[in-house]
Amino acid sequence: MRPRLARKVFYMALSIGTVLMATGIVTMLMRNEIGQGTAAYVAFAGAIFVTVGAVINNLFYRCPACHHLVTRGLQWQTKCPHCGRELD
Ligand SMILES: [Zn+2]
Repeated sequence: MRPRLARKVFYMALSIGTVLMATGIVTMLMRNEIGQGTAAYVAFAGAIFVTVGAVINNLFYRCPACHHLVTRGLQWQTKCPHCGRELD
């Protein structure tokens, strides 16, 4: 997987996961049913999205030249911060 594609997948998984978790948690709070019902599954699915996104990011968002992890928080990088190579 190309680094920039991995980063896009990560951003998407992070946004979808955050929305699902927020929806699930807010619904549970409003219904006073913490950890129960469909809302719990929605929040759990959100957590899975975030986890999978983070794993993909850590596996594939790497510099093709020096194989360092190209990450500085959530920032979008076009060049490797370690060796300065342009990312594909
Ligand atoms: Zn590099």
